[in-house]
Amino acid sequence: MNNTFYGKLIFELGETGRVGYSLPKNELSDYNIASLPQRLKRKEKMGLPEVDELTVVRHYTNMSNNNFGVDTGFYPLGSCTMKYNPKINEEISNMSSFTSLHPLQSVDTVQGALEVYYNLQRSLSEISGLNEFTLNPFAGAHGELTGLMVIRSYHNSRGDYKRVNVIVPDSAHGTNPASAAVCGLKVVQIKSLADGTVDVEDLKAHLDDTVAAIMLTNPNTLGIFEHNIPEIAKLVHDCGGLLYYDGANLNALLGKCRPGDMGFDVMHINLHKTFSTPHGGGGPGSGPVGVRAGLEKFLPNPHVKKAEDGTFYIDTDAEALGSVSGFIGNFGVMIKAYSYILTLGKENLKYVGPFATLNANYIKDSLKDVYELPIDVVCKHEFVFDGLKDKSQGVTTMNVAKRLLDYGFHAPTIYFPLLFHESLMIEPAENESKTTLDEFIAVMRKIAKEAAEDPEMLKAAPHNTPVRRPDDTLAATHPIVTYRELLADSAE
Ligand SMILES: *Cc1c(COP(=O)(O)O)cnc(C)c1O
Repeated sequence: MNNTFYGKLIFELGETGRVGYSLPKNELSDYNIASLPQRLKRKEKMGLPEVDELTVVRHYTNMSNNNFGVDTGFYPLGSCTMKYNPKINEEISNMSSFTSLHPLQSVDTVQGALEVYYNLQRSLSEISGLNEFTLNPFAGAHGELTGLMVIRSYHNSRGDYKRVNVIVPDSAHGTNPASAAVCGLKVVQIKSLADGTVDVEDLKAHLDDTVAAIMLTNPNTLGIFEHNIPEIAKLVHDCGGLLYYDGANLNALLGKCRPGDMGFDVMHINLHKTFSTPHGGGGPGSGPVGVRAGLEKFLPNPHVKKAEDGTFYIDTDAEALGSVSGFIGNFGVMIKAYSYILTLGKENLKYVGPFATLNANYIKDSLKDVYELPIDVVCKHEFVFDGLKDKSQGVTTMNVAKRLLDYGFHAPTIYFPLLFHESLMIEPAENESKTTLDEFIAVMRKIAKEAAEDPEMLKAAPHNTPVRRPDDTLAATHPIVTYRELLADSAE
């Protein structure tokens, strides 16, 4: 990092009067300018930074070097599937033939785009084993809400208004109970067994005619395969409820088995986790929702369909939910997903799940003698350590995570899931090389050694990053997000 730029805002790098770009002469005559209404005219200077072009280039390049992404190094963040998203998919979704479309164009002028949309719906159906998909929701959580609305519409359509309870295991991702609550349903929590899977006896105790659905993630948020799904499906269906599959962990099963075949009725897929959209920074995402045969008519409007003559049209089915998104969703994300699926093809998509699983188990078994593994079974695409095995020096998961940054690795997910005190949740995606995994394992072992030999050094980590230990609470409660605010703060 170049010191001239370190920690500086671009406003601090300029000099009054310095320019990096000059605009062509104003083509409006003085008369035209004078005739502009007063309210449209700028009353004070814009306050732009005054910098030369090279300074601008170096400022942004240096800033980007302070960041860490999947393209910079290993990123084993669990519960998120931060996989590498091939650049070709970005390029394809950025083609002007897609980006210049307008959602209000007449359908006969956007047949190609609708074909992509339709084919993606069909591909997701084939991958998941569910009959019909909507691509409208913008994210996984949005898909959960949409799916639960579908489930509620289904129960209401039969006059079965008692069904207001949604069963959620205690290992569930926080969005599951949140979506149920937003949908106006009640959350009923059930326990997990010591092996991390759903406690079927506890489930049985909560089954009656008030159950709208059970929401399950499989493999669950501990990375463990719920092997009792056939029994759970039978129990829930017998009492009139439906099964909702949270597809955030679909990466682990991709090409290996299908939620529809397991007995699930409704699911969402996070295209930005499983199908090639980067999701650092919060979006845009896409959370398509699939349903089994018989539930199609409850999917939200609008719906892209194919006519007998092979043309595509947008249907707004009267029985469906209203709309859950503007137009038909985040189309750019769908193009990337479709491109990714076609690139791998049926033959290669089936390796994604097994390779992700192999990578996770390799790391787990290579580290479990020095990190605490509370549930020692074959995991799927991710697993959870409960901190260091030797806790006598008071070195926490936070310290380990911070120290990893010194060694050029992104930290795994920490303090989630909430089932353990020192959760350290590791997920390597399917396409990481053995060399990378070995480097990560070596560093994790080194940190465990440092924890025993020099714990105070670890507690002060990271030592080499541009920003070291920001005050989490202050950053959350009093974030400084604008230059003006920073100026005001330093004037105080
Ligand atoms: C990420 C995730 C979600 C929420 O998905 P978003 O697309 O972030 O809204 C739900 N459940 C699980 C298990 C997840 O990992």
